[in-house]
Amino acid sequence: MNIIILGPPGAGKGTQARILVDERDMIQLSTGDMLREARDSGSEMGRKVADVMARGDLVTDDIVIGLIRERLRGDIGGGLIFDGFPRTLTQADALGALLAEMGQTLDRVIELGVNDEALVSRITARSTCASCGEVYNDSTRPIPADGKCVNCGGTEFKRRADDNAESLKRRLMEYYKQTSPLIGYYYALGQHSRVDGLGQVDEVKAAIASELDS
Ligand code: AMP
Repeated sequence: MNIIILGPPGAGKGTQARILVDERDMIQLSTGDMLREARDSGSEMGRKVADVMARGDLVTDDIVIGLIRERLRGDIGGGLIFDGFPRTLTQADALGALLAEMGQTLDRVIELGVNDEALVSRITARSTCASCGEVYNDSTRPIPADGKCVNCGGTEFKRRADDNAESLKRRLMEYYKQTSPLIGYYYALGQHSRVDGLGQVDEVKAAIASELDS
């Protein structure tokens, strides 16, 4: 089963994708993670996208489609979870074509619905484990008192440079301008489901599971 998790920044896409990876042996393809890796490696492409990402703008379609094309050459395990991709209609068309070339289908697009206020407070309180990427939140899911990641025991945590109010404003604007039209696109294809993303992680997880298993 191949799925997209769609939603604005801070909706919980990465958190829910990680759960599906653990529980269903699926493979998470996060273009945000791929781009951060490229940026941190200092590659030519990484240098090109660093400023765009810091501002909260979208990286060009060519670059992200290229990254996804590259990853689709590997193992697809128990299915793929596209997290943060596609973000434009051009990317959505490209994904459809790439999956078709592989003889694969897109089975479900899960939109995580949240309101903007929740997003701002989630994002500005967010940190992740530097080793495994486990997500924490200063108020709702703080880093354990012993300073060790619940998932891997790592002791270093980081905040994303673009998790600040200024970039978030642009990221949200990009979402509404460029990405939200995908809701109608996938609705028309009969693949869209909306899940309330405002609940606790376990509640959202259960809602997603019931969509995927129905
Ligand atoms: P994310 O981790 O998904 O929030 O992505 C972080 C940043 O990477 C975004 O604000 C964009 O600058 C860039 N990015 C990630 N995925 C895409 C995509 N599919 N298309 C364009 N830019 C992207």
